[in-house]
Amino acid sequence: MLGRSSPHAAIIGCGLAGAATAIALAKLGWRITVYESGDNPASGASALPVGMLSPHHTTQPTPLSRLTAQGLSVTRSHLQTYLPDGHGWVATSVENYERGDLHQPPVLQGVDLAHIIQPACLIDAWLNHARALTSLELCTQTPITRLHFDDVTRHWNLLSTTGAVRSAASHVVVANAHAAPHLLGTLALGLRPVAGQITLGPSQMGTDSPSRITPKRLSGVYVPHFLTRAGAVWSVGATYRRGSDDLAVRARDRAANHDLLASIAPEATDRWSAQAKENLLHDWVGVRCASIDRMPLVGALPFGVHAGIDPSAARHHIPTAPGLYGLLALGSRGLSLAPLLGEVLAAKMSGQPSPLPLDLEKAIDPRRALLQSARQALKTRQ
Ligand SMILES: Cc1cc2nc3c(=O)[nH]c(=O)nc-3n(C[C@H](O)[C@H](O)[C@H](O)COP(=O)(O)OP(=O)(O)OC[C@H]3O[C@@H](n4cnc5c(N)ncnc54)[C@H](O)[C@@H]3O)c2cc1C
Repeated sequence: MLGRSSPHAAIIGCGLAGAATAIALAKLGWRITVYESGDNPASGASALPVGMLSPHHTTQPTPLSRLTAQGLSVTRSHLQTYLPDGHGWVATSVENYERGDLHQPPVLQGVDLAHIIQPACLIDAWLNHARALTSLELCTQTPITRLHFDDVTRHWNLLSTTGAVRSAASHVVVANAHAAPHLLGTLALGLRPVAGQITLGPSQMGTDSPSRITPKRLSGVYVPHFLTRAGAVWSVGATYRRGSDDLAVRARDRAANHDLLASIAPEATDRWSAQAKENLLHDWVGVRCASIDRMPLVGALPFGVHAGIDPSAARHHIPTAPGLYGLLALGSRGLSLAPLLGEVLAAKMSGQPSPLPLDLEKAIDPRRALLQSARQALKTRQ
């Protein structure tokens, strides 16, 4: 039975990162308040209508490929546990292509198992399950604009736009992706936005022939058919605008998505043209949050001004703030990483052993991002 003595965490941001942390903390008996600036959960990048979960291939295992491999199996088990009826996701395969010689069509390299997922469905299912386990309050349309640690109460005050205190909590999880730097003051963690655009159209395709609906991947993915909450769609993309958090739809990005489609699925360009003529195509733009080394940031956060930090300092000598945690920089891999990393963070906050090996723990420590950022700043000054 939960009581006032159960630990309480405030989570800022209700995308894949915030909601995955919420379900993981709920399972460990925490009370939770989630603050989301949008009208609904999944208002940021996690509003992605069509996302793919698939292996990350590298010639040698890298920290990111190992983390993704571990994450894939956790996400698959979350799908089975929280959305067993398959609403909002489908298991499929994906054909992987690589560019051939100039003027030659891309060459099929192999086929992977994959899942197509609408993240908002998983996020809603997590929140519903968390509510059944614990006291979970979701405050939408509530941007948190400032954090202040009260030395007397040893609690964090979460302040809104008016400067009013929304809540005081002993534990805070910053999970608001590329907006986190505004909240963390001058703390330079090297986070940067990467906007991306996908193009979608309605799909009337029957699902009777699996080969016709098998996604294809080159620099982006073509999904011939997927049932979203808004109806059946096909989609192609996404683009990468590094350093941009601009949500505007760009004609250049739509053209890039058309080029991608023409190279891997020329048979689908007639459908594109017909739907474009009838004004049936639309684009979705979201902003990813990336780190310097492409690894996520998970764990206790430093706080405040670290402008003068010595880039050669040892990571473990950098002090972290009491009760302040982050799950940030999921990049293009939120579906593979969030469920696993929510569990990793909840274990850390609860003083339980991490499901990750020690070297991966170090590789996701937010303090290494502070040092990388300090090194980058030093290079720029030299
Ligand atoms: C075009 C595109 C295609 C993608 N394709 C894939 C894919 O195929 N597979 C895959 O795994 N991933 C994909 N991704 C990446 C995936 O969408 C992200 O990794 C994931 O959604 C990030 O989740 P998040 O919770 O960290 O961030 P978000 O979903 O952005 O969540 C952050 C939340 O914080 C809220 N917020 C912001 N500031 C505040 C504040 N001050 N107070 C309170 N709330 C706040 C926002 O409204 C938002 O809801 C894609 C992303 C894009 C843009």
